[in-house]
Amino acid sequence: MAVIGHYIGGKQVNTAGRTASVFNPATGAQSGEVLLASAATVGEAVAAAKAAFPAWADTPTLTRARIMFKFKNLLDRDIDKLAEAITLEHGKTFEDAKGEVTRGIEVVEFACGIPHLLRGDFTEQVARGVDVFSARHPLGVVAGITPFNFPVMVPMWMFPVALACGNSFVLKPSEKDPTPSLMLAELLAEAGLPKGVFNVVQGDKEAVDTLLTHPDVAAVSFVGSTAIGEYVYKTACAHGKRAQALCGAKNHLVVMPDADLDKTVDALMGAGYGSAGERCMAVSVAVAVGGVGDALMEKLVPKVQALKVGPGMDADSEMGPLVTREHLAKVRGYVDDGVAAGAKLVVDGRDLKLQGYEDGYFLGGCLFDDVTTDMKIYKEEIFGPVLSVVRVPAYEDALRLVNDHEYGNGAAIFTRDGDAARAFDRDAKAGMIGINVPIPVPVAFHSFGGWKRSVFGDRNVYGMEGVGFYTKMKTTTARWPTGIRAGAQFVMPTTG
Ligand code: NAD
Repeated sequence: MAVIGHYIGGKQVNTAGRTASVFNPATGAQSGEVLLASAATVGEAVAAAKAAFPAWADTPTLTRARIMFKFKNLLDRDIDKLAEAITLEHGKTFEDAKGEVTRGIEVVEFACGIPHLLRGDFTEQVARGVDVFSARHPLGVVAGITPFNFPVMVPMWMFPVALACGNSFVLKPSEKDPTPSLMLAELLAEAGLPKGVFNVVQGDKEAVDTLLTHPDVAAVSFVGSTAIGEYVYKTACAHGKRAQALCGAKNHLVVMPDADLDKTVDALMGAGYGSAGERCMAVSVAVAVGGVGDALMEKLVPKVQALKVGPGMDADSEMGPLVTREHLAKVRGYVDDGVAAGAKLVVDGRDLKLQGYEDGYFLGGCLFDDVTTDMKIYKEEIFGPVLSVVRVPAYEDALRLVNDHEYGNGAAIFTRDGDAARAFDRDAKAGMIGINVPIPVPVAFHSFGGWKRSVFGDRNVYGMEGVGFYTKMKTTTARWPTGIRAGAQFVMPTTG
């Protein structure tokens, strides 16, 4: 049984104390025991990061970039190992896990450009003999608290940019799939990152609370559910930290009557059931506009029925199990609730049994028709392979659904009509819009973030938003000695 510990000051550290079990979701068998950090252990990680910070912040950006280049090459080398580690603890298919690592690598590639990204501004002669220049400085020790659904990609939304900007980092990954975090720490060390610049503490609420209140943590990035994100954001802010929290979602895909239905159905299959619906950008609501519902269902139902569900390491599987037994029970509970509330369960995945994997956390794809906005399955994030179809008469009704929902992470429209697409792009209240693209996760040189209760804080992650979040501006007004030959001046300086 693997013991999954912490990574502090350049080495793996195991501590006594509380632990939690880690399972292989495909078999239901326990695969490891993860240590849960005490406040003292988190304190050691923060102290290691604090000690490493001054030298790292002083390291030229070109040197930092070269470490990122090496890290990128090592990630390419080990992509299969990382993907396998993800699949064995998370459950998603191996190819999907490789896709996750690839999207993380893209942020490392962005961070390789840090010498250019941190280039400052300079204005000569703002007054006679006076120049002004601005530069971005790292914050110090920054922390990342991450969810189970992307154990490699979400930490890599954060730390490549944070490190490249000159900060030191403490990562608190999800306790459900903790192993990949240690692999990332080892690869950073192999790339030449100095000891203590990147640290990992495994843990739960105790570890999170310690980071949120620790006087030596300057900023906190969180990705996870809305209830916890709101708490994390408010607590971190109350303790004087810069904070950003990216949270839950209920992403709608609007199907216009003129949409290419074959492409739309393929998009709904991937976005609704990929990674068993455990993505914050999963599509969980399809909005059929103006009578397109029957034709849509005719094509969609057989595809959901034919979905190949199986262990993530099996090359034939299109969808793996859910992450834990508890999460499986929660998602099943939502399906039961939808049936009780009167929604039409056209494909019922609840009875799926897989020979040889009877103890795995599998649920077949579920598809609801005639879902209404008062139902719990419409209002709440299910985070499972459950797609709800809502039928509305007109485009305006579809837009209203998107805009009235409490979440506003992503929203997509499928249409051939440029006017409808443009109107949707301008009017939909969501942070990321897809036009004939179901999962519009921005590339690394743009930035990721939702609206409404899908986010707390005013900075998105990665891209230039990430550089802004992980740095503070210093603006210097300089006058050189010859400028004071005239002697002291007592009036307010003005230009001219
Ligand atoms: P979660 O909120 O349960 O956990 C996230 C992190 O918070 C974990 O590290 C966990 O250990 C910690 N945590 C859990 N309970 C805590 C508590 N009481 N106090 C302090 N910390 C606590 O989320 P999850 O189930 O791991 O992930 C799924 C959620 O994440 C979904 O809601 C999904 O939409 C969201 N998510 C959002 C984005 C985004 O970018 N918006 C991306 C990925 C996932």
